[in-house]
Amino acid sequence: MNKKIVIVGAGVAGINAVTKLVDNGYPGELITIIDMGKDPYNRKPEEVMTGFLGAGGWSDGKLTYHTAIGGQLSKYCGEEKAMELMDQVITNFKRFHPKPEEVQCSNPVEEPEFIKPYFGLRLFPVWHVGTDYLSEIAKNWYDYLVEKGVKFEWETKVTNISFDAQELWTDKSTSDNDWIGYDKLIFGVGKSGIDFGKQLTEEYNLPTEPKPVQIGVRFEAPQKHFQKLIDVSYDFKLYRKFEDKGVSLRSFCTNNNAAYVAVEETYGDHSYNGHAKKDEAYRNDMTNFGILMEIQGINDPFTWSRELVKKVQAHGTGLYYSPSRKPSTTSEGDNVSAHQIDWMGLQVVAEYFQGYFEYISDFIADMKKVFPTLKDDWGVYIPEVKYLSPEPLVDYNNLALTKFPNVHFVGDALSARGITVSGAQGIYVSESILGE
Ligand SMILES: Cc1cc2nc3c(=O)[nH]c(=O)nc-3n(C[C@H](O)[C@H](O)[C@H](O)COP(=O)(O)OP(=O)(O)OC[C@H]3O[C@@H](n4cnc5c(N)ncnc54)[C@H](O)[C@@H]3O)c2cc1C
Repeated sequence: MNKKIVIVGAGVAGINAVTKLVDNGYPGELITIIDMGKDPYNRKPEEVMTGFLGAGGWSDGKLTYHTAIGGQLSKYCGEEKAMELMDQVITNFKRFHPKPEEVQCSNPVEEPEFIKPYFGLRLFPVWHVGTDYLSEIAKNWYDYLVEKGVKFEWETKVTNISFDAQELWTDKSTSDNDWIGYDKLIFGVGKSGIDFGKQLTEEYNLPTEPKPVQIGVRFEAPQKHFQKLIDVSYDFKLYRKFEDKGVSLRSFCTNNNAAYVAVEETYGDHSYNGHAKKDEAYRNDMTNFGILMEIQGINDPFTWSRELVKKVQAHGTGLYYSPSRKPSTTSEGDNVSAHQIDWMGLQVVAEYFQGYFEYISDFIADMKKVFPTLKDDWGVYIPEVKYLSPEPLVDYNNLALTKFPNVHFVGDALSARGITVSGAQGIYVSESILGE
């Protein structure tokens, strides 16, 4: 105990980690947190990704409460421990909430009968913190940590780390000798630091976990066809699994009411995503969601996905197929950038997918059975893709790098995808440090 701890990233993972430490008597003076964003008093609403509580602190404030959602946790510590860690994260959010009694858990209902023959429907509890309260929670939480003596370095970007020498440099370092030393490092840089994590993984040739490919299409249709299901679950998650083929499919990130398809540009190619507007003025009564396949067992999944995405481009943009519709407009009223292809074109796309497109076609065919009014009133934007960054291999007992046992990876930097899981990973690491 009582070693110097440096936490890179004051995101959900880092902040839950430090809270666990100081709650249990670890001297705050021995802990330094470095973040390239701002403290909660100076962070602006548009600074979505960086600053106190990270992306989670400026998010939708939904705390998912299930081990199947938000990334991997039970893989490291088992189901029971994972739920207990998530409870601790939720307790922290309530503890610093100005009106904790308003934090409510939405109650999932049982999967409706009409879905059962064709799809699984993932229903899971969600704690709603309330977006409007996140800023106040952050301030209360920050004040507590400062009071405990924790040191924060704001608007400071860590630019290099020597795992061998246990030293790191920031964009404020004035020379090679101007380093910050640590005994233990918690690395929680989130999505905004994803390239930095990748850089370190390559530089130190860290062993990584095998990753599946995640690719598919963004499906869009008038909302009325799905209303029966939306009434049960707004952000519904349909899924199916082909265990023997190493393929699973899920509907991903459902948007309704004022739902728009969005073009993403990654590595110079177009792919698709979706978002919903809150303002009623934007209401278009459409629904969109990804139909994402997770494909196991492909060698070099990153290159495989990149090459496939490159192939399904035409005229400088992605593709759109529909038996009856045209691409929709964006919330600004422009056409969603997509080159429309016909049925023959879709067969070519299917070839590029090397047999995997059949799973998507079947998914849509079965949706037509479950939602009988859908018929041909839908379209797909091709592709939707999630490039998964390499996940360094860690000791499952404390999330420490197998090569550098005093360096712990947490949160989105370790493939988490949500507030609760990221925070829980931070707490898990601190429990291991406290137990040493
Ligand atoms: C718009 C949006 C909405 C979301 N809504 C939800 C939601 O409702 N529910 C949910 O569960 N999840 C949501 N998420 C995902 C969730 O926010 C993340 O999974 C979670 O915040 C990850 O926590 P983290 O601590 O790993 O990283 P983050 O919370 O992203 O924090 C990382 C921190 O590291 C800092 N950093 C990065 N690189 C460096 C560097 N080199 N030097 C110094 N500092 C650095 C950043 O400034 C940042 O503050 C949302 C994400 C976004 C972007």
